[in-house]
Amino acid sequence: MMEKNYKERILVTGGAGFIGSNYLNHFVPKNKSTLFINVDVLTYAGNLKNINVSKEANYVFEKVDIRDKGALQKVFRKYQPTGVIHFAAESHVDFSIKNPQIFLETNVIGTDNLLALSVKHKIKRFLLISTDEVYGALSQKDRSFEETDLLDPRSPYSASKAGAEYLARAYANTFGLDVVTTRSSNNYGPNQDKSKVIPLFISNLLKGKKVPLYGKGLQVRDWLYVEDNVRAINLVWRKGKSGEVYNVGGNYELSNYDLTCKLLSLLGLGEEMIDYVKDRPGHDFRYSLNTDKIMKLGWKPEIFFSQGIIRTLDFYKN
Ligand code: NAD
Repeated sequence: MMEKNYKERILVTGGAGFIGSNYLNHFVPKNKSTLFINVDVLTYAGNLKNINVSKEANYVFEKVDIRDKGALQKVFRKYQPTGVIHFAAESHVDFSIKNPQIFLETNVIGTDNLLALSVKHKIKRFLLISTDEVYGALSQKDRSFEETDLLDPRSPYSASKAGAEYLARAYANTFGLDVVTTRSSNNYGPNQDKSKVIPLFISNLLKGKKVPLYGKGLQVRDWLYVEDNVRAINLVWRKGKSGEVYNVGGNYELSNYDLTCKLLSLLGLGEEMIDYVKDRPGHDFRYSLNTDKIMKLGWKPEIFFSQGIIRTLDFYKN
């Protein structure tokens, strides 16, 4: 089929990264009448080997930097997308502490380029993939974050993601763009770059190397299996209400110490493999999400951590 003969044409940014590739691998084969245009510049975190669907007729790849508006414009002209699902980002908090600039360029300016072209080309829906980190941090006794809570980002990464959210909101309000947003907790599963905690720890342990645990490992994160997240993203894409934000969490909170101990025990190793290192500056203590809103839309996490982590281990072993 000619590209423009597809009734629905979704421009997916960052499709070679962790969550984007899982989204494409899941939904390209299930939606043969939708064209998926993967726009990715392939940074250290993006790899075309993550994509199992590159031979499908309804999938195309364009190596484009979202910071380059002219190059993006050509993609919009060529494919005339009907919608945008925007995953692409600089996503590593530690890297944002070392070099905030590129986070602003990709996450804020890159998002602005996409929003402006989406208005210009009258796309029907823009889905922004955001993060629980925009809310700031909780203590152990605080209630979970709700979608209406004020944003209080505390790292250059989360500030750049909050900037993207505010811009998207401004485009919805000013230009009538249909925007929906998901804010998810920490994803885990196949295809994540080895600079992130779970793949890093697994690959170190498989090589007999110690794992670097920040501080005393007391920080708490909510863990969500990536396949559960991509189902949530698809639901919000299809059924989410215009202008709304949806939290997506696994309802499974673990301290980094407990997470490390789980990995050690699965690999039959002991706590002597932990190397306690100096804490991350400004390390947020806890994230936790209230997920009532997306559950009312018809989603719940289906993969227990005990299953998901085994699948993840198997992936990195192979
Ligand atoms: P990732 O770092 O694995 O992948 C990002 C992808 O974007 C890569 O393929 C990279 O090449 C591409 N990219 C980066 N800069 C680009 C640019 N300038 N132009 C074009 N492509 C570019 O990220 P991820 O973990 O898959 O996260 C996807 C989205 O989900 C991000 O927006 C992130 O903020 C958000 N998020 C991630 C998590 C998580 O746990 N991984 C949690 C909440 C939200």
